[in-house]
Amino acid sequence: MTQAIATKISLLRQKIQIYNHNYYTLDAPTVTDAEYDRQIKLLRELEDKHPEYATTDSPSQTVGGVVLDAFSKVTHELPMLSLGNVYSATELDEFIERINNRLNNTAELCFCVEPKLDGLAISLIFEQGKLVQAATRGDGTVGEDVTHNVKTIKNIPHTLQGDNIPLRLEVRGEVVMPIADFHAFNKLAQTNDSKGFVNPRNAAAGSLRQLDSNLTAQRPLAFYSYGIGIIEQGDLADSHYKRLQQLKAWGLPITREITRETGAKGCIAAYTQLLEQRSTLPYEIDGIVYKIDDIALQEQLGFVSRAPRWATAHKFPAQEEQTQLLDVEFQVGRTGAITPVAILQPVFVGGVTVSRASLHNADEIQRLQLKIGQTVIIRRAADVIPQIVQALPGTQAEKDIIFPKICPVCHSEIERIEGEAIARCTGGLYCAAQRKEAIKYFASRKAMNIDGLGVKVVEQLVDEQLINTPADLFTLTAEQLIPLERMAAKKAENLLTAIQHCKQTTLAKFILALGIREVGDATAKNLAEHFLTLDAIQAANLETLEKVDDVGKIVAQHIVTFFRQVHNQEVIQALLAAGIHWPEISAKETQALPLEGKTYVLTGTLTRMDRNEAKQALQALGAKVSGSVSKKTDYVVAGESAGSKLTKAQELGIDVLTEDELLNLLDIQY
Ligand code: NAD
Repeated sequence: MTQAIATKISLLRQKIQIYNHNYYTLDAPTVTDAEYDRQIKLLRELEDKHPEYATTDSPSQTVGGVVLDAFSKVTHELPMLSLGNVYSATELDEFIERINNRLNNTAELCFCVEPKLDGLAISLIFEQGKLVQAATRGDGTVGEDVTHNVKTIKNIPHTLQGDNIPLRLEVRGEVVMPIADFHAFNKLAQTNDSKGFVNPRNAAAGSLRQLDSNLTAQRPLAFYSYGIGIIEQGDLADSHYKRLQQLKAWGLPITREITRETGAKGCIAAYTQLLEQRSTLPYEIDGIVYKIDDIALQEQLGFVSRAPRWATAHKFPAQEEQTQLLDVEFQVGRTGAITPVAILQPVFVGGVTVSRASLHNADEIQRLQLKIGQTVIIRRAADVIPQIVQALPGTQAEKDIIFPKICPVCHSEIERIEGEAIARCTGGLYCAAQRKEAIKYFASRKAMNIDGLGVKVVEQLVDEQLINTPADLFTLTAEQLIPLERMAAKKAENLLTAIQHCKQTTLAKFILALGIREVGDATAKNLAEHFLTLDAIQAANLETLEKVDDVGKIVAQHIVTFFRQVHNQEVIQALLAAGIHWPEISAKETQALPLEGKTYVLTGTLTRMDRNEAKQALQALGAKVSGSVSKKTDYVVAGESAGSKLTKAQELGIDVLTEDELLNLLDIQY
């Protein structure tokens, strides 16, 4: 029995050492953080229960991983430690109680509360205000010299500015890849057929730990300070919070979300607020850190082997989990697009249970080298749809995923046009799946908003051949509806009333409801406001269409092709004959707001408002906020570490605004 426990502990330690090596040394994790945390917790529980097997070199007691030989080594003058964790309000109370007992304290404690950035820890040494050395945390005692690489990070000053700068100062903080830049980097990697990163943390670690600093320089990294190591000949504040403000005054970046809170209640309120903000922050965070604010108390409390006693991390629910890929289904969309959908062993991640995830297209399956039966990592960040980000090499018999050559619904050929990622069923309205989707889309809330015409009803109506196009909806009778499943007389009557009701609509909604490829609600609105009548839109050629906001070459072509089809014209005529109508739009209505007609692009990190706030403020004034810079852009607002979009704006001669100029324009005081 005893032997069995010893073996169990030893095996668990070895397994965790392998995870550590893959994560810290190779920047290529093979399990999710959530799974890693479960294994560490299990090890700690076993070691607590069997203290006779506790060792100081157990991964439960050590920090980080082994440093790579390819880098010069740096011995930290003060060890760079990790953080303890709490997972609940009760565990936070226990943490505070331990501190109070140690300090013999009964008063409420004051905490500096900071976002826990998900990147990698860095130590920066400034001598006489000049950056002379940068090192990774490594195993806590010895790190890697990454000075050249760190010097390419745009928001790290090479020289500090201001007064009372200590002769020698070690600043500690986290290097991250901002989320927007991470997505842009991965998108580019996809078009170049190269491998992207699994998550922003990996992107930051992989980009910083490059042997060639030219490569690091091309990666959009950012740094935020959260602490101080050694200080020589310097007079620093006696509060952690004030020290961070001091770093800011010397030109070092700190995060905007740092606050001071009193007691457990204040900490939990800050946790709740930050969790709410999580999806709007420019960087990925995996929790919040509570630190005793009084430096004298910090010194009194000191450290345990791998973490300070005066700080702890309160982790947020995991955004990545692992599960098994059970099967892949192929769905046919409104425009015939064939989308592979992963059927998963249900898993709780990012606050919901996920059992399906879109795999987008055949390239994505190829890129992930996915096979049925494999363990996969699912990521669900904020309200973003769940995504498979990685397939883990498996041990069991796995099955290749075969992309179908004929449509699973109508058996027409599937076509993939050269250069396009999407494969499509060629069946058009012959394909029942496409017919159903077109009708569902027509009836959807944003389009004609037909209450009671749910997915199940549309499917039955098409399967029973009662309707073939949206226009047929207007010929339905109660006698036809009542025999359908779960459709009583009252429900049928309500549905018929809703169908009659929808006839009174707007031109924008009608255009949207037609389901023209790549014409979403914003484009439909722009088309309606630009051309004012359906006739004018139908008569427009490519050149005039491209003058409309949001309409590029491809969308213009889709619009022209759509109206050219005889069967589409027949459906439109039938819909108008059924009585669909909308109020006339006057040209004046469309010019009501002050920034109407202006297109803005936001880039880089804004320091006093986040991008979402800026976007909403601009949109409220009528401006359009676009994600990419083109000739149609009127202004680019460039925040900190603005990169390729700023360069493009300069090349195209587009006006560039600073954050201050934007705030001034919006008349916002921060
Ligand atoms: P940690 O990430 O839980 O906490 C310590 C680190 O937090 C510090 O070193 C610092 O880099 C960072 N940090 C961010 N913001 C901070 C702030 N405001 N103040 C202070 N520190 C801040 O601990 P760790 O030892 O770096 O790593 C352990 C964690 O790493 C695990 O819980 C797991 O999530 C992950 N991990 C995963 C794998 C894997 O294979 N998936 C392997 C090893 C570790």
